[in-house]
Amino acid sequence: DTIGQALDEAARRWGDIEGLISVHQGVRWTYAELRDRAEALAAGFLALGLVPGDRVGIWSPNNAEWALTQFAAAKAGLILVTINPAYRISELEYTLAKVGVRVLVAAERFKTSDYVAMAEAAAPGIVALERLIKIGGAPRPGWLVFAEVSGLGGAGERAALGRIGAELDCNDPINIQFTSGTTGLPKGATLSHRNILNNGFFVGEAIGLREGDRLCIPVPLYHCFGMVMGNLGCLTHGAAMVYPSEGFEAGAVLAAVEAERCTGLYGVPTMFIAELAHPEFERFDLSSLRTGCMAGSPCPVEVMKQVTSRMHMRDVTIAYGMTETSPVSFQSSGADPLERRVSTVGRVQPHVECKVVGPDGETVPRGQPGELCTRGYSVMLGYWDEPEKTAEAIDGYGWMHTGDLAVIDEAGYGNIVGRIKDMVIRGGENVYPREIEEFLFRHPKIEEVAVVGVPDPRYGEELCAWVRLRAGEACEAEEVIAFCRGQIAHYKVPRYVRFVDALPMTVTGKIRKFEIREAMIAELG
Ligand code: ATP
Ligand code: MG
Repeated sequence: DTIGQALDEAARRWGDIEGLISVHQGVRWTYAELRDRAEALAAGFLALGLVPGDRVGIWSPNNAEWALTQFAAAKAGLILVTINPAYRISELEYTLAKVGVRVLVAAERFKTSDYVAMAEAAAPGIVALERLIKIGGAPRPGWLVFAEVSGLGGAGERAALGRIGAELDCNDPINIQFTSGTTGLPKGATLSHRNILNNGFFVGEAIGLREGDRLCIPVPLYHCFGMVMGNLGCLTHGAAMVYPSEGFEAGAVLAAVEAERCTGLYGVPTMFIAELAHPEFERFDLSSLRTGCMAGSPCPVEVMKQVTSRMHMRDVTIAYGMTETSPVSFQSSGADPLERRVSTVGRVQPHVECKVVGPDGETVPRGQPGELCTRGYSVMLGYWDEPEKTAEAIDGYGWMHTGDLAVIDEAGYGNIVGRIKDMVIRGGENVYPREIEEFLFRHPKIEEVAVVGVPDPRYGEELCAWVRLRAGEACEAEEVIAFCRGQIAHYKVPRYVRFVDALPMTVTGKIRKFEIREAMIAELG
């Protein structure tokens, strides 16, 4: 199927069921309304002269217009380019020019950022760009207003939509999604209808989504976690997409779950940590929750346990994936024993194969760490206009080299030990920062922690932990080091411990370890 067909199917099967609820905008649409509005916008896009294969950018925090643009682009056969809300002028210009965006749909503003002014500043550098469409706010010269575009399409465009729908192939590109930029510059992964629709469907299966469910989506829509696992997971299961706020706010998530009686909740570990630590956590009624998913970075067992007990998410799973693989390639299912679900990333996703290879490229025995490679429906078409980078990532046999270190046990359950780039070699010993982080999470005063390697003349590298303490706690580096001594091998005990108010994060809630490393190198000289 194409995504347009899936939307028609949803409107047919679940026409009266709520499909989209944007809590912060007061918007509620059934699946029939969502389809009708997406079709009107798709016809409007055609009326602007766009043709299948053209690129349309969306640069906005989470809102109903974001989802409409996603589904309208799919209906019109346009390639949606999802832009990180944290971008500034130069990044916006670089990415939009790179992929030749003809139309940009942008929010008026987000928090203190004036998107309209930034888009205007970037526009002259984007040769292909013809139109700017703004979501909400006052009319402005040079901009079309989002709500008006839907009225532009006439009978001719409507008829054209039918033809386009019949001609689209599920292997056609439908999205260019930029990676999180955790390790450096984001990369534009080009994905097909099949890539992401298949993935969204199986994610929904794994967490047991069903008709009438309400899934709270606080993760950014620009990222595959929101738009694929969230929006497409719901679309293929008759569940409502619930957006609590524009950007992540723990209190807004808890309030939306209570008010909308949400049955599912998504988040990266840092989001769940913030929700659980919210000062008024106990005041919210979260008893409607049943399932959900934690993903995006290593998921601490302690946090998973609290999510199953204090947040009632007994069917919660951990998923592992990357933008380049649509995203998910490993996920447990609600049927797996709880112990496995809180401590592993589950088993390989249907329609996906995996192998774990050593530095020589040979498959390592089960239970041994190595680079995880995946292959199948989920693997992207490639990085847009980057044949060399694509060839580095996907080999001639179709294997995506993830850059992540994994261990897969006899029963097929995976553990992500960390990124290859983050592995530390201290005095000749391989150290996985993830293992030390997991250990430090057990310290009662520690709320969040990141461990990195920093250069050291004697041992090659030394370990450094950046720690964020729980509210109201105080602690000395000595106390953290003493906590480790005798409990983990001496070469794994961090040499440096620093206390910080916040760890450097991406919009998708991942810790930018290279920034910690750079800060430490500057500090240590
Ligand atoms: P960039 O590639 O731009 O540096 P990124 O890799 O963080 O950024 P994404 O595609 O959003 O961009 O994230 C994929 C990565 O996230 C994976 O390669 C993996 O390192 C990490 N990841 C995702 N899920 C998990 C998980 N459940 N456990 C551990 N790591 C995870
Ligand atoms: Mg990556």
